[in-house]
Amino acid sequence: MTYDVVVVGGGHAGAEAAAAAALMGSRVLLISMNIQTIGQMSCNPAVGGIAKGQIVREIDALGGQLGIVTDSTMIQFRMLNRSKGPAVWSPRAQSDRKRFTETWRRIIERIPTLDLFQDMVVYLLLKRERVIGVKTLLGFEIQAKSVVLTTGTFLNGIIHIGKKKINGGRLSESSSINITEQLKKLGFFSGRMKTGTSPRIDGRSLDFSKMNPQLGDDPPGKFSYLETPRLKNQRCCYITHTNTEVHKILQSNFNQSPIFNGTIKSLGPRYCPSIEDKVYRFSNKEHHQIFVEPEGWDTNEVYINGFSTSLPDRVQYMALKKITGFESVKILKLGYAIEYDYFPPTQLKPTLETKKIKNLFHAGQINGTTGYEEAAAQGVLAGINAHLKTHKKDSFVLKRNEAYIGVLIDDLISKGTEEPYRMFTARAEHRILLRQDNADERLTHLSYRIGLADSQRMRLVGKKVNKLEKSFNFLQNLNITKKFANLILSKKNSPNINHSLTLNASKFLSRPEINIQDILFIPDLEKFVKKKIFEERILEQTLILIKYKVYIEREKKNAEKLSRLENIKIPEHFNYQKIKSLSSEAREKLMKYRPDSMGQVSRISGISPVDINILLIHLTF
Ligand code: FAD
Repeated sequence: MTYDVVVVGGGHAGAEAAAAAALMGSRVLLISMNIQTIGQMSCNPAVGGIAKGQIVREIDALGGQLGIVTDSTMIQFRMLNRSKGPAVWSPRAQSDRKRFTETWRRIIERIPTLDLFQDMVVYLLLKRERVIGVKTLLGFEIQAKSVVLTTGTFLNGIIHIGKKKINGGRLSESSSINITEQLKKLGFFSGRMKTGTSPRIDGRSLDFSKMNPQLGDDPPGKFSYLETPRLKNQRCCYITHTNTEVHKILQSNFNQSPIFNGTIKSLGPRYCPSIEDKVYRFSNKEHHQIFVEPEGWDTNEVYINGFSTSLPDRVQYMALKKITGFESVKILKLGYAIEYDYFPPTQLKPTLETKKIKNLFHAGQINGTTGYEEAAAQGVLAGINAHLKTHKKDSFVLKRNEAYIGVLIDDLISKGTEEPYRMFTARAEHRILLRQDNADERLTHLSYRIGLADSQRMRLVGKKVNKLEKSFNFLQNLNITKKFANLILSKKNSPNINHSLTLNASKFLSRPEINIQDILFIPDLEKFVKKKIFEERILEQTLILIKYKVYIEREKKNAEKLSRLENIKIPEHFNYQKIKSLSSEAREKLMKYRPDSMGQVSRISGISPVDINILLIHLTF
């Protein structure tokens, strides 16, 4: 058996990598330990959220699948951060967990150049410093020009529930063996991380009337820029709280928690702590929010977001029973923590190829990240680059000012991570440019050029840009009367306008308190909306362009300035030893991380502006 690309692991990273490489024309084999769990959501059944929602839009704009799968399986949609600026508006959806994996499987099966096989990869086949295939537990040797490793939380995974320790990559799934040991022998360094998940509950045992309902947006949005289905009905989520009684039970059992009694030594996701961690760290807080989220359309199972725990079963049960609405709780699956191996991502090139072994790519949680979206994004980029490398084509890298995905990969390979890395809007210095509404304008043409995004996507972006231009020009030229403007301003308790009889609509819209809905019923505009010439999403984006014009222009200029450093490339085997004037710390780090560009050098901690200047002189003269 010979393939262009073999992808190891069918989680979020692996499924995207396999689909991307195959859609670009590679012959791909996706090997996973269980082919019933392709794209399985290990933790909560939700996609998107702050900064993660932007990533999903970017994956979609590139021609990845996560947005499409989510749109076809969602049960609720909300745009988070609406009350803040559009740079941080973030789409989030609850999905039907079972349908999510089924949809992924269907997508994989429909790609003609993509084969699927259930087995565990236990060994990489190498020739000198190049990977040439994989060997499986069942003894198959499969030749490949490139291999993408996406083993998630499975490498030497150990599950913890109180004192119980079980080998596994997820509850009821075995862990993956041998790969860490082989890579370490080849000179890779590895680390250990941990994460955890909440118990799943039988919804019939809960009293939802005691909780606060959390409804989806009306009308609901969606992720994909393609014409994917829009939700007609939505399922309700609920909010309840822990209380001092719950906290007391947890506190009196801290000694049984593997996190506190020293059994688990590795670091977990700081921003997604376990309930015992939250109660310990914020001991003065009397309650914590609990989100009760349905797992799908036709199941009673609910996910208890905010109650991740590795305490013993009895303690989980006793504590849950004290939560309002949970008095008769029945647990379907226990919460647990898991420890696993990862490979610090500073060992990777910007293409996600390893620096040590040619044609070997790492993507997803194996790189120390956490989250479906972060994993899927790396999967798409690794799949693209595995295909390009196999076909001897130029690599594909996104810059920090082009995409959150660019920020994610650059952060990982330049700075590494010692705790599970998740994306935040604050990590992106150009976030006003990297909005969820414009990922298609930023990325689809780049992906089309390398052969992933198809012509249908390009047509849709072209159509959208056209409409945006038209609506922008229309609003620039539209005048509204002073009377109309003052009517709206009075409703908002804003001071009235006394000068001029008419004013320009785009100027009026640039006032912070004015929204597009305020002027939708101006007859001139209303007729265009009714004829669907300007859809609401187009007007909403036009409004962003009008309101934030100055900031957007300024940020574009900043990005241009910074990209000059990105464009100064450093040869792969550059000899830092010969530059005696570099500080020894800088020399050591540069030799360790082997950055690809001066931009990357500037983001490595411990490298001073003086070192940067010295290096610039050597590279540019
Ligand atoms: P995974 O989704 O783990 O997929 C790995 C795949 O590789 C699996 O299909 C496995 O069968 C396969 N595989 C592994 N080794 C081999 C091999 N040798 N041969 C063949 N196949 C192999 N994320 C959050 O954002 N917040 C959270 O709170 C959170 N909590 C989590 C709690 C738990 C208990 C777990 C397990 C994960 C949690 N996650 C959380 C992480 C989230 O699930 C992952 O970030 C995401 O699934 C990573 O995607 P991945 O594709 O890298 O790996």
